[in-house]
Amino acid sequence: MPEVPYKIVVGLEVHVQLLTKTKLFCGCLNKFGQAPNTATCPVCLGLPGALPVMNRLAFDLSLKAALALNCQIASHPGLPPGFTKWDRKNYYYPDLPKNFQISQYDLPFSHDGHLDINIHPDPKKGHTAKRIGIIRAHLEEDAGKNIHDESGRGGDTRVDLNRTGTPLLEIVSHPDMNSPEEALAYLDELRLMLKELGISDCEMQEGSLRCDANVNIHVPMESEPKGYAATPLVEIKNLNSFRSIGRAISYEATRQYETFQKDPVGYRIGKLLKTTAGWDDARGKTEVQRHKEEAADYRYFPEPDLVPVVVSAAQIERVKLEMGELPQAQRKRLETQHGLSQYDAGVLTAKGRAMVKYFEDVATAIGDSKAAANRISDLIYPALTERNEEIDQFPVTAAVYADFIKRTAALNKQDRVDLFKFMLENEATLDAAMEKTGIKPATFDETTLRAAVVDAIGKNPRAVADFKAGKDAAKMAIVGAVMKSNKGVPNDVVRRLVDEELAKG
Ligand SMILES: [Zn+2]
Repeated sequence: MPEVPYKIVVGLEVHVQLLTKTKLFCGCLNKFGQAPNTATCPVCLGLPGALPVMNRLAFDLSLKAALALNCQIASHPGLPPGFTKWDRKNYYYPDLPKNFQISQYDLPFSHDGHLDINIHPDPKKGHTAKRIGIIRAHLEEDAGKNIHDESGRGGDTRVDLNRTGTPLLEIVSHPDMNSPEEALAYLDELRLMLKELGISDCEMQEGSLRCDANVNIHVPMESEPKGYAATPLVEIKNLNSFRSIGRAISYEATRQYETFQKDPVGYRIGKLLKTTAGWDDARGKTEVQRHKEEAADYRYFPEPDLVPVVVSAAQIERVKLEMGELPQAQRKRLETQHGLSQYDAGVLTAKGRAMVKYFEDVATAIGDSKAAANRISDLIYPALTERNEEIDQFPVTAAVYADFIKRTAALNKQDRVDLFKFMLENEATLDAAMEKTGIKPATFDETTLRAAVVDAIGKNPRAVADFKAGKDAAKMAIVGAVMKSNKGVPNDVVRRLVDEELAKG
């Protein structure tokens, strides 16, 4: 993180599409990649007389996300606990044929939560927890898509209404992040949690996770009552990859600092309206689009076609039971129960619950968690990447891999890699792979091997003298000599025998 003479302040608005079968207020399929305008009906087309009906599953999924984000569930002063309602947000867009969006305004179903993230600059070396506040999470319907002609020949823009009315969860954070890295750490943690809980697939390329970043900077100034001057807010839209989010925040902070230096009196929050900007990824620049509408411009009013929702305590309990272990708790358990390092526990958790289960099955079967973690990162992670597979599709089950680890413990790493590769490529059992490749642990008996060690010690007086003079590495000459005359014997056994014999004096 480069040192800069100001503090970056970032809040994120994340929209995620929910993994429901159908849309939020009608029975149309909620599925990416269907032929344009095939998943529509009078309700989502906004035809006169069509009435919306709320999708229960969408509400339950959102509730699950809110609880995992430690949010209060519809706790609004003067209203019964759990009371929440729908509102109309009026605006005109070609991809929103009703000319309003059903959303939530003043009484969102959840609010005031938090998510803890790791902001250590080198996560391999440590963990620095930071709590990011969640202002609110609310449910709304998505708009469709305008498909512009990008050939540059000025063709028509077409409208696809398949996405119109699909369920969208909006999660608004406090401006608690102070660098692009922190914003990305927050998004990483949020995405992991939403995927693990089956709330969203969070595919940014397909638009099922979208992010807007609110950015400004605080420039330290002793003459200011707060000790700093704050620049006007800019909301950056259309951030469609993690990389572009990081770049856009950096760029915008630098741009604001340059503008502030030219006009330190006028370029201030409160003096200028919040603006929205688009991110042009190819040019690496933000472009200011418009001054932001105030809420009043949307003429919000309670949605007359839907009844308010009251979330019961029983519903909250039921959803909590369905949540299972959250990533943060899982990392802790992997550390305490399995003795993994914070870093290893983090890597494993980030790979998802199915991978954690695989690890735990292997660890139990071989009775050694650390060895299980090491062997899995040696062979399983690279194989999954190479084959572009998830662990639940992987042909080598935890039981088979545990057996592999036990029976190849005496082999060196390269031999293990070759054997495993053969098994995968030929769908072979370990026995067949050993037979075909000829790679197998040598059979040896310890008494004979010890005699060979004693013999080698006798033949290498110089190494022995060096060792006794304090050069510990000198013993490797003896290990090498034994390995040379006893091909295939396990290196670790030879080392132990050499240590034992040298200790005798
Ligand atoms: Zn529909």
